[in-house]
Amino acid sequence: MASALTDKLSRLVKEMRGQARITESNVQDMLREVRMALLEADVALPVVRDFVVRVKEKALGQEVMGSLSPGQALVGIVSKELAATMGEGVSDINLAAQPPAVILMAGLQGAGKTTTTAKLAKHLIEKRKKKVLTVSGDVYRPAAIEQLKTVTAQAGAEWFPSTPDQKPVDIARAAIDYARKHFFDVLLVDTAGRLAIDEALMAEIKELHAVLNPVETLFVVDAMQGQDAINTAKAFKEALPLTGIILTKTDGDSRGGAALSVRQITGAPIKFSGTSEKLDGLEVFDAERHAGRILG
Ligand code: GDP
Repeated sequence: MASALTDKLSRLVKEMRGQARITESNVQDMLREVRMALLEADVALPVVRDFVVRVKEKALGQEVMGSLSPGQALVGIVSKELAATMGEGVSDINLAAQPPAVILMAGLQGAGKTTTTAKLAKHLIEKRKKKVLTVSGDVYRPAAIEQLKTVTAQAGAEWFPSTPDQKPVDIARAAIDYARKHFFDVLLVDTAGRLAIDEALMAEIKELHAVLNPVETLFVVDAMQGQDAINTAKAFKEALPLTGIILTKTDGDSRGGAALSVRQITGAPIKFSGTSEKLDGLEVFDAERHAGRILG
């Protein structure tokens, strides 16, 4: 791909042989290429700006080691900084709560919330040996409730019924009650999403959060989402104390710049990535690998 950062930089690098340091005068062209590569990977513009400033600060005046050229050194700094930013605080799901540990799933419609809820159920059952209950608070789409029922069964978890005539907070209370009485370790709560940010829905999920007091509030976001990921992330961060991110559809052909945007805007760690439509398509997020992909 023409956008490959390392290809572009290596051209610049050739013009810089014999320079031992990254300096204000030789760094500008390289940073322009870094900026382009990030924008082509769909990292949001303000996030790119911040990132480039950080990289510049780290790079300036750095002694270039051994046979490295300033260009190669800068590529190293960029990928390290990308991986460090995206990989900060990566950890498995926190279940340190009086059972049932409640996990609230938030995100836009189509982001992959329902699928990811079932993937997480499967992960918690198989890897953490937990007894898992799921429930849907999506009272606007009966099909979504049915979808959760189906995938929950596939995951080997139990599903708590809900119906469109109920209020989400009432569903939440009933599900917690049931989970307590039947000794479930974890309650996964799927929620309604919209195609765009919707104030009423944000108010509703805030209310749900207050009732559920979840130990994890996970923001589910599509890796294919482009520049707009930043607005979605801002809106969810303002509404909820997010504890983690799950980046779905990393098997798609986008370069996944949304990861950097969302990580930077929310401050929450990216815990997992979705790697297929199937329920075993969930992996612990690998920041280094994802950095390589963003750089092309
Ligand atoms: P929701 O509206 O947020 O609950 O989204 P869904 O769970 O219904 O997912 C929307 C679509 O994305 C479905 O067709 C899923 O199969 C698909 N999907 C979810 N996660 C992934 C993933 O990691 N990879 C791929 N390829 N598809 C996914």
